[in-house]
Amino acid sequence: MSPKVYIGGKLYDKADAKISVFDHGLLYGDGVFEGIRSYSGKVFRLAQHVDRLFDSARAIHLEIPLSREQMARAIEDTLAANKLTDAYIRVVVTRGAGSLGLDPRRTTDPQVIIITDQISLYPEELYEHGLKIITAGTTRNHPNALNPRIKSLNYLNNILAKIEGTNAGCLEALMLNHKGEVAECTGDNIFLVSRGVVHTPSKDSGILEGITRDAVIELARAANYAVVERTMDRYDVYTADECFLTGTAAELIPVVECDGRTIGSGRPGPVTKDLHKRFHGLVRGDR
Ligand code: PMP
Repeated sequence: MSPKVYIGGKLYDKADAKISVFDHGLLYGDGVFEGIRSYSGKVFRLAQHVDRLFDSARAIHLEIPLSREQMARAIEDTLAANKLTDAYIRVVVTRGAGSLGLDPRRTTDPQVIIITDQISLYPEELYEHGLKIITAGTTRNHPNALNPRIKSLNYLNNILAKIEGTNAGCLEALMLNHKGEVAECTGDNIFLVSRGVVHTPSKDSGILEGITRDAVIELARAANYAVVERTMDRYDVYTADECFLTGTAAELIPVVECDGRTIGSGRPGPVTKDLHKRFHGLVRGDR
């Protein structure tokens, strides 16, 4: 069966799923998006993803032509139409087609697009052995330029850092904020474990407020780990006992090296493994 893509209330075969080349989403990266997962037919934290999408849209003056309830239903219906139970779901809302020129008033018709697919971000063995990362020279967007809390279609900042990572033979790259503090990786939030305490950059560090990040903080606290959201720098990463990344696509993946420094023992540590198991239980087990 050909995958069905939702565009503006209708389902299209993948080959026919097209939008205008005059859409400002394409011309200027003008729009917002979400990456969501469903496990065993249940969409993980759907309401939270829909809220973040609407918040991002509000922040860029984009009115989504659906209510939050209609958006949630459209996502579930698209998943059902594709007969998928375990899936990655991409929701995109573009500014819509208009004439050339930045002014959003030149556009009409924001486009709501929902794509469902299967995704595996990293090879399975890296979940066991851990990733190597480098710090990118590209600084994470300044919050007063394009706030990283907005999940906008303009991902070039992250893509440039990702290219630096891949050029250095790494699948992820660490991004610092404009103050030189640790922010996040190109598509994931970062956590450290030091002396049994779990640390992650605070929400004002210039990060996307990851939904997996939230879930892992809740899981860690429920398991009686102390969790500290704070400002951190690269020294903290180099000297941590453990490090891992979280994201919808990546889920929870260990990091064992950063900028050529071995982190902890160079193997995924016990807290990372424990939280990974708990995360797996949360999303794939009973909720
Ligand atoms: N930071 C960035 C830059 C991301 O693109 C993502 C992936 N959406 C994350 C963090 C993780 O967010 P989430 O857990 O909501 O997927």
